[in-house]
Amino acid sequence: MKIITSPKEMKEFSAKSRAEGKKIALVPTMGALHDGHLSLVDKARSLADVVVVSIFVNPTQFGPNEDYDKYPRQLDADAQKCTEHSADVIFAPSPQDIYAPDASTFVNEVQISQNLCGKSRPKHFRGVTTVVTILFNIVKPDFGVFGEKDAQQVSIIERMVRDLFMDVKIVRSPIVREANGLALSSRNKYMTQLEHDGATRIRRSLLEGKALVDGGCTNIDRIKALVINSVTDAKTRVIYVDVVDAKTSLPVSELDVGNCRICIAVWYGQTRLIDNIII
Ligand code: AMP
Repeated sequence: MKIITSPKEMKEFSAKSRAEGKKIALVPTMGALHDGHLSLVDKARSLADVVVVSIFVNPTQFGPNEDYDKYPRQLDADAQKCTEHSADVIFAPSPQDIYAPDASTFVNEVQISQNLCGKSRPKHFRGVTTVVTILFNIVKPDFGVFGEKDAQQVSIIERMVRDLFMDVKIVRSPIVREANGLALSSRNKYMTQLEHDGATRIRRSLLEGKALVDGGCTNIDRIKALVINSVTDAKTRVIYVDVVDAKTSLPVSELDVGNCRICIAVWYGQTRLIDNIII
């Protein structure tokens, strides 16, 4: 497996692969890889001849008081895992490689990004769509593989690809969880064991919401109230609980059973966690 840091070298590698008739799949990540990320690498491996995993802690998607500086960085361990999962390339540029000092161009989706996480993280998705466009332009993948853990993010990427006629197929991959139900996240590292155990209530609250729907309830306010009630404890601050369209992540006024998703974001102690479930 190769580690490439230079965008120019990455472009050359991709151009050569395409000239040889190979299909390329890109898995964009911020590193500190866990089994959730690695499931995307496996998915990419099943789709394409060449698997590129980008590892880039993207400054433009972090707000001023967010965790950019303390975000875990562990390239050696990540490289080991990517090798074990048969990736071909890690593309790990520095911020200076990606953003010119006077970079002034952004890609901005303005509908889906207004809801859910967009309300509390105003420039977050602008940073995501911008960096994903840059990565697509450098790697020129046939496939981009994204996790449903970040359901709103993948909806926004799909919208961007459609709206801008980008030549890449977006592939969704399901959420990978710990045995106790907690969705794997690089940010789980911030939590103590006790917080970790407590955060499993996030998944349980979503399952309670789903059980209510499975029992015949279609009242969105009741579903939301149950989830909020169930997740709340002394350590949890709910950022939002919402019911959205499962594909577009846009708000719904009526429940379309099977095609909706409960999305949740909470502060659990000092850690911001998100999760979702199809209902
Ligand atoms: P991140 O490094 O957090 O930016 O995530 C990179 C990619 O991995 C995104 O497409 C995420 O949705 C995906 N991902 C993160 N955690 C999980 C998980 N637990 N299960 C599946 N995909 C995940």
